[in-house]
Amino acid sequence: MIVDAIDAQGRRYLEVRVFPEGKLKQAFAEMPHEHCIECNALVHHGFDRYFQRNNPDDGSIPRELESLLLEMTYDTVCGPCGDRLLRKDSV
Ligand SMILES: [Zn+2]
Repeated sequence: MIVDAIDAQGRRYLEVRVFPEGKLKQAFAEMPHEHCIECNALVHHGFDRYFQRNNPDDGSIPRELESLLLEMTYDTVCGPCGDRLLRKDSV
């Protein structure tokens, strides 16, 4: 099951799993790596499990535009950091 969770600060985490072997995964092989915003670890979309993290709504932008912007401006959080942050906040 895909993780879609909110931490204690209201930030939303959407899990991105490692893709199964095949054309989709191959298509992402050339994508540039991103860095985890928490620990700076390299994250490779499709090859590493990670989280796309969005900040809570501030309510100042119309909903449709806001959700579009949120999707485009997520922070990359590596799997271990996302697990740690969600676990800490759930205690
Ligand atoms: Zn990390």
